[in-house]
Amino acid sequence: QVVTRFAPSPTGYLHIGGARTALFNWLYARGRGGKFLLRIEDTDRARSTPEATQAILDGMTWLGLDHDGEAISQFQRADRHAEVARDLLAQGKAYKCFSTQDEIQAFRDAARAEGRSTLFHSPWRDSTPDQHPDAPYVIRIKAPRDGSTVIRDQVQGDVTIRNDQLDDMVLLRSDGTPVYMLAVAVDDHDMGVTHVIRGDDHLNNAARQMMIYTAMDWPLPVYAHIPLIHGPDGKKLSKRHGALGVEEYQHMGYPAAGMRNYLARLGWSHGDDEFFTDAQAREWFDLSGIGKSPARFDFKKLENLCGQHIAASEDAALLHELVGFLAATDQPALSDDKIILLEQGMYCLKERAKTFPELIDKAEFILTSRPVVPDEKAAALLDSVSRGILKELTPQLQNASWSREDLEAIAMQFAEDNSIKFGKLAGPLRAALAGRTATPSVFDMMLVLGRGETIARLTDAAC
Ligand code: GLU
Repeated sequence: QVVTRFAPSPTGYLHIGGARTALFNWLYARGRGGKFLLRIEDTDRARSTPEATQAILDGMTWLGLDHDGEAISQFQRADRHAEVARDLLAQGKAYKCFSTQDEIQAFRDAARAEGRSTLFHSPWRDSTPDQHPDAPYVIRIKAPRDGSTVIRDQVQGDVTIRNDQLDDMVLLRSDGTPVYMLAVAVDDHDMGVTHVIRGDDHLNNAARQMMIYTAMDWPLPVYAHIPLIHGPDGKKLSKRHGALGVEEYQHMGYPAAGMRNYLARLGWSHGDDEFFTDAQAREWFDLSGIGKSPARFDFKKLENLCGQHIAASEDAALLHELVGFLAATDQPALSDDKIILLEQGMYCLKERAKTFPELIDKAEFILTSRPVVPDEKAAALLDSVSRGILKELTPQLQNASWSREDLEAIAMQFAEDNSIKFGKLAGPLRAALAGRTATPSVFDMMLVLGRGETIARLTDAAC
């Protein structure tokens, strides 16, 4: 069974790169009936905060990236990490090193002076530690001295690291705390992780983590190190170009499905497909589709995909997400009657809206209440001539059957009878119904508002 994990360090918000890593792991597991686990790498006590953990959880919830089981705290597992270090010690695959910082420094200085590698070679590797007095020590792994380590990376290809470039890394510090590299390897093994998909800034760590796997005789996971996300200019992603916390995208009103679609495309491709559903993404996602070069973040593409997802969403689901957006951005909740109208009107609101604020803007005719106060442009359209037109048209509309055909026929006939273009009629109708000049079609507004409210607003505006 496939087991993936997302292993964020809770030292800040869930940034866009982290969200993409989480998404890739989630897609890979979910598409294969596997498990997607969450491990909070909170061993750096000074920098880890509960607020950051919460922000990560919130971001994942918003993106719909549900994880299996409880989130695991790496810090809580320190005893287990130490146990593995002692196990390796017992097996003779690690050793107690009593070298002091000064001795290590002296070794390095001498090596540098002689032009040799400054990787520390501990004199304790091949001595019997029992002979040493009761002094502080660290536990170091016996790194292989010859040959090379090959990371068979699914994205980067085979990456070969000469073993003489790896030192006998410390597993357990002199205060008994495990180092990060040990914690990651032990946790991944214990969690049964089969596929490690993460940023390529961790590629070098893989060689060190593999050393621990090999010493413990554990089967290696499959590695896939994904290139970082760059800005549209090809440089490191800046704030202006999208290096933001996931919640900022939520607050900008991008729908989660559009965000998932966009993030999935950021560094991964499936032929020429740009727009796809979650089900398709789960089915299609594979490691071979991950590109080797950094993906470029592009707000235009994100918006384009979000618009397509809004248009393709079920009305009720969209309304539900809209309500969530209002809550997340501390905006007043909607009254029940507005919610009903919004659901009825969603079919016309979701056309061409790329974000929730755009959708809300189009819904102004629903969200406003009588008396509708026209904005400046709309007020200019409601001059005495227009008001006269509305005064005459309103009684005719009142008797309509309130079907689209009927409403359209009445308006067209009215325009013809009065020798005015339909546009001359639509402007005042928009102004009267929505208090705006940019709105959904006047017939959609009438159908959504219903006869009573439509007639009342037209009557208000006519006098
Ligand atoms: N905690 C690491 C990070 O936030 C990820 C480690 C890993 O995926 O192995 O970058």
